[in-house]
Amino acid sequence: MKDRNYTHSIQIDTNKCIGCSHCMRVCSTQAIRIVEGYARIQPERCIDCGECYRVCPQRAIYAKDDGFISIERDGYRIALVPSVFIGQFPSEYSATQVLDAVKQLGFDEVYEVEQAVDFMKEAYESVAKEELPHPLISSFCPAIVRLIQVQYPSLTELILLLKAPHDVVALYLRKLKEREGMDPGKLFIYYITPCAAKIVAARAPVGELQSPIDATINMTEIYNKVSKILHGKKNPGLHKKFANMSPDSVNWSLSGTEKKYFPGRSLAIDGIDNVIEFLEKLESGHIAEIDFLEMRACDQGCAGGILCPGNRFLTVERLEHRHKRLQKLKKADKGVVRNPLMEYKEVLHALSSVDPVYPRDGLLLDEDMEKALIKLQRIERLMTYFPGFDCGACGAPGCRNLAEDIVRGKASISHCVFVQRVMEKNYKLSPDQAFVVIEKIWGRNRLNKYRDSHGKES
Ligand code: SF4
Ligand code: SF4
Repeated sequence: MKDRNYTHSIQIDTNKCIGCSHCMRVCSTQAIRIVEGYARIQPERCIDCGECYRVCPQRAIYAKDDGFISIERDGYRIALVPSVFIGQFPSEYSATQVLDAVKQLGFDEVYEVEQAVDFMKEAYESVAKEELPHPLISSFCPAIVRLIQVQYPSLTELILLLKAPHDVVALYLRKLKEREGMDPGKLFIYYITPCAAKIVAARAPVGELQSPIDATINMTEIYNKVSKILHGKKNPGLHKKFANMSPDSVNWSLSGTEKKYFPGRSLAIDGIDNVIEFLEKLESGHIAEIDFLEMRACDQGCAGGILCPGNRFLTVERLEHRHKRLQKLKKADKGVVRNPLMEYKEVLHALSSVDPVYPRDGLLLDEDMEKALIKLQRIERLMTYFPGFDCGACGAPGCRNLAEDIVRGKASISHCVFVQRVMEKNYKLSPDQAFVVIEKIWGRNRLNKYRDSHGKES
């Protein structure tokens, strides 16, 4: 069975794109092509990791969220704030101040996402007792789940089938408000997101029909509004108001904390390239006797998310400070953690699992195995014609990607500039025809200057 449930947040503004191909070169899933002078994303391959967003010199790549304007005027509005948002602000501002400022933006309540971590700890302990294939891979980072679906289909069975903390908090709030007598149709839950992958996870969750989150709001957008409210009101005192969770919880989304919650031998790997290197080894059977893998697409975990406005290393330092402050508070409270969410743990246990994750649809060469095999043979044959330089002049990131595009009917062999020269030499392609092919890839505007200068010289 394949997963057909995918949509995207990462988009390209062709008014700004100059077809420089920086994005194509960093995309780990080879999802980008240059067509008619602009970058284009192949939706079946994109995992919304945002690596292309980081490198675009034109700022032509953006993450489409639901935006601040999605806030319902009439409903009861709750904002779910991840601790990395609090970590965007200097430690002179307390978590209470930051969360109160978010509330002032038009929410009826704010909740810190990491309130669910005490529940996650118990859930992990209970999963660890089950007879499941190992190593289990954390499902927290949606970019990693999608990376496995797209590039490592044989590893999908290792994905932990548990919802992420922000979904668990949203489920808790839905149950709480239901018990308080609120009309479920009036409740709107907004998640302030550090990345594009989580926007997509709320719109088209993997292993679920529907997310308990109603909409997502870009962290940078909220940051600018909150900064204005906070300006000059520094007060880092010890506030109990939003401290009803275990101190370790605040660091969950950073690299290296989640793994501590899974009993047994576990590793934390962050940064998409490091994750890919590890998954390659895992797929080829070179990794053994590990119980759990915490994997984050971003360097330093969510502190490095593309929508976090602050520096990731400063965010990590600030969350460490906050962790220490919470430890102090807990000590003053004789070590007691009063997390109201834990009163709902039985209900949440029943609701927090997701369905098995399947490889993504649209990546097979053909649904028919026999035809797929023929196409594969054709790819191998094409590869013998291509130079193997992965120069990108064909508008695809590598020779193999061009070969795949050709058998899928999306490109032609003449897209390869090396093959073109041979075809020209053998009179199978005229220089004018070759020019037209290159124009289709790199765009008329870009090639006009060569056409003009050629005209002047001749
Ligand atoms: S978001 Fe990631 S996967 Fe999608 S096109 Fe950009 S770099 Fe590639
Ligand atoms: S590490 Fe965090 S911020 Fe980065 S893609 Fe994954 S979930 Fe999003």
